[in-house]
Amino acid sequence: MSTADAPPATVICSAKGCRRAAEWVLVWNNPKLHTPDRRKTWVACGEHRDHLGEFLSVRGFLKETVPLAEYGA
Ligand SMILES: [Zn+2]
Repeated sequence: MSTADAPPATVICSAKGCRRAAEWVLVWNNPKLHTPDRRKTWVACGEHRDHLGEFLSVRGFLKETVPLAEYGA
């Protein structure tokens, strides 16, 4: 019997090819594309948090990194 075994909605890491559950939200804005109050988000697992954060921060896009559990809470 496969009742009630639907997993809770899991957010998957935004990194290419990664299937891990996301633990972090990277909040960013590209001033060339977005108005200053616009916020884009990527989600990342623990392994990719630094990689994605670095990608955004070197471009000056990264606003903040917050734990997924706290984001939007
Ligand atoms: Zn990942």
